[in-house]
Amino acid sequence: MSKLNQPNWDVIVIGGGPAGFFAAIRCAELNPELSVLILEKASQTLGKVLISGGGRCNVTHACFDPAQLINFYPRGGMELRGAFARFQPTDTVRWFEERGVRLKTEADNRMFPVTNSSETIAECLRGAAKNIGVQVIVGASVLGVKKNPQSGFKLEVRSEARDLHLNAKKLLVAAGSDSKSREIIKSLGHSIVEPVPSLFTFNIKDKRIDGLAGVSVENVTLKMDALTQRGPMLITHWGLSGPAVLRLSAWGARELYEKKYRAKLSVNWLGDISFEKALEVLTHSKEWKENVRKKVMGNPAFSQIPLRLWKQLTEFAGDKNWGDVSKAELRKLAQELSAGEFNIESKGQFKDEFVTCGGVNLKEVDFKTMQSRVVENLFFAGEVLDIDGLTGGFNFQSAWTTGWLAGSAMSTTDKNG
Ligand SMILES: Cc1cc2nc3c(=O)[nH]c(=O)nc-3n(C[C@H](O)[C@H](O)[C@H](O)COP(=O)(O)OP(=O)(O)OC[C@H]3O[C@@H](n4cnc5c(N)ncnc54)[C@H](O)[C@@H]3O)c2cc1C
Repeated sequence: MSKLNQPNWDVIVIGGGPAGFFAAIRCAELNPELSVLILEKASQTLGKVLISGGGRCNVTHACFDPAQLINFYPRGGMELRGAFARFQPTDTVRWFEERGVRLKTEADNRMFPVTNSSETIAECLRGAAKNIGVQVIVGASVLGVKKNPQSGFKLEVRSEARDLHLNAKKLLVAAGSDSKSREIIKSLGHSIVEPVPSLFTFNIKDKRIDGLAGVSVENVTLKMDALTQRGPMLITHWGLSGPAVLRLSAWGARELYEKKYRAKLSVNWLGDISFEKALEVLTHSKEWKENVRKKVMGNPAFSQIPLRLWKQLTEFAGDKNWGDVSKAELRKLAQELSAGEFNIESKGQFKDEFVTCGGVNLKEVDFKTMQSRVVENLFFAGEVLDIDGLTGGFNFQSAWTTGWLAGSAMSTTDKNG
């Protein structure tokens, strides 16, 4: 019998992404008696896993203290605190290891499969689901869900140009950032925090960085209104990128969206060196005897600034020697280096990872079980929730954790199940 001809299921999962797979596998492993079905509208499952981390899949992050881990989530950290106490990166590593997939930690604590291939992760999940009897149907799009009068749910599904109805005692929505699925969730009585992009680069046209694509600075401090981020930054063809920029974009995602991605950015190219300290170093450079006859543009006073960038940042002072720079120019230079102002003109794309913030209102979900507080036997996991992490494996970790919790809770057979 085709799986679609079987109308009644104990558990149906909407979405064959990492959160949906993790939940379905956990649920079936705990209770093999249950019939568990994943419905995936795309022609293959785990599409985002396959393209993630530049094809390598940054599975999680080597941060094993839940109290620390939550600081990497601009939204949802507080709610994930207890959830991580139950399933955190140590558990993710063990989970994959138990199924034959070893992970390695890179210098920046990101964790990848040792094979350096996202296929390894997708194959592991698909294999684990198959082994435990989870059924998967691809090309099956859930168009609507209705709560049954007694208990459970009726799903309207389109598959191979056929419309059909399936019944589920328990339903997990793990549909990622899919907009149509959000409408389904709303129709069940939930509220959705408006989704907006997180993790993006800044498009900036400015002659100080023009033609410097590929130049990076090890440690800058960025400020945008009340937000501050420190770390490496990369100049690109379109503006600025790199860890410091991506982190700022994530924490300021909503604010930047409201400002239509136009904002003032202050860049301290010297990391944590203040204006006063910078001025002191520059004054010393000016007074330094050997420097007096040397060009400002050709002789950076700070070794962390690459020469090409230094030339463009100091261009305003003209082709002067250090000895000829006025006090006012020194002050301007210190200002430029410690708090250069740039105009963000629009949002760029970070191709390695793209996430949305917004989704199911977290107040409406019980984070012990991932069950809806609004509709009994309805569960949520993954990016469909108003949770998003910084780049580095945090978004998958949230999918593994919430999926695992939902799967655990759905495996129990209660009076309604
Ligand atoms: C290019 C890229 C690279 C990334 N790299 C990383 C990384 O290296 N590390 C990291 O931590 N995060 C990464 N992310 C983020 C990560 O992929 C997501 O956070 C994660 O996939 C969310 O998992 P999910 O299961 O909640 O949703 P998804 O992976 O989006 O899966 C949801 C699934 O549900 C299906 N679906 C939706 N609606 C329906 C419906 N109505 N009926 C049937 N099916 C439906 C979708 O087709 C989809 O397959 C990356 C994202 C992108 C786009």
